[in-house]
Amino acid sequence: MQWARKGLSTLCLLVENQEFIDFKTISERYGLAWQDFYRYLQLRHYFDKNIKGLIQENISGITKMFIKAYNTKLSRQIIGELYRHIVELRGHSTNYIKAKWEKELGTVTTSEDWTNIINTQITTIASQLWRDFSWKNCIRFFITPMQKSRQTRLQLTCRRGCGHSMADHMHIFWSCPTLKSFWEEVRNIISEVLQYKFNFTCLSFYLLLTITRRWLNTESPTVNQWEAIIKDIQTMELLTFRLRLQRDKGEALWEKWSTYSTRRGDNLS
Ligand SMILES: [Zn+2]
Repeated sequence: MQWARKGLSTLCLLVENQEFIDFKTISERYGLAWQDFYRYLQLRHYFDKNIKGLIQENISGITKMFIKAYNTKLSRQIIGELYRHIVELRGHSTNYIKAKWEKELGTVTTSEDWTNIINTQITTIASQLWRDFSWKNCIRFFITPMQKSRQTRLQLTCRRGCGHSMADHMHIFWSCPTLKSFWEEVRNIISEVLQYKFNFTCLSFYLLLTITRRWLNTESPTVNQWEAIIKDIQTMELLTFRLRLQRDKGEALWEKWSTYSTRRGDNLS
C-alpha cells in the first residue's frame, strides 16, 4: 500500500528486459527508503521463483501492451494496436476477414496473396499513423453505411451521394461511381511511376490511404491529395532511413517515385 502511494502499483514496474531492476534504481525512481529493502528482496525472490520462467516463454502482445501502459509508453494508436492483438489472440487467423472480402469482391484470394497483404500493412510504412490507418482498412475496422443500416434499421445510402443503398467496404473504398476517376488517375500515375502495367485490383489496399482519412467526407478524394500524402510519407520514410543510417537503402526504395516527381515537376515548370 505504501509503495502504491509512491506510484509503484504493479510488479511489472519493477521489471525491465525480464530482469528485476536493482534496488538502488528502484529506490531512486520511487523514493523508497532502506527499510524497504527487505520487502524488495521478498518480491525479487517471488519473481525469480514464480514469474521469471513464465515470461521468458512468451508474453502475448496484449500483455506487453498493458506493461507499456503501466510504464506510460503507449503510442497514440491504442485502438489499432489493441485490435491487432485481439485479432492475434483469435487463433492467429485472419481468414474470417479474408472470407468477408472475398464475398464482397466475388473473387478468391490465395492464402499467399492474403499473407502478402497482411504483411504489407505491418512492414511497408515506418509511420505508426499510416500503418494504423492501413491496417484498420484491411481488417474492416470501419463501420459502413450498410452495417449501420442493419444496426439502426434505417435505410442509409452511400454518404458520397451516389444513391447506393448497399454501401459495403468494397463500395466505400473502391467501386463507388464517384471514385471512378480518382482510381483511374491513381492507376495511371502508378503505371507511370513503375513503368509497367500491373494488375490493379481492390486488393491493392495500401493505396487506399487517402480514402480512409477522408472517410467521413462526402466528396471523393483527389489525386493531388493522394500525391501530397505520398510525398509526406516519402519525406518521413527517407528521414527514418537516414536516422537508421540506411540512407542509400531508403533512396533506392523511393527511386522510382523520386524520378516521377522530378519528371512531373519539370513538366509543370
Ligand atoms: Zn457511393
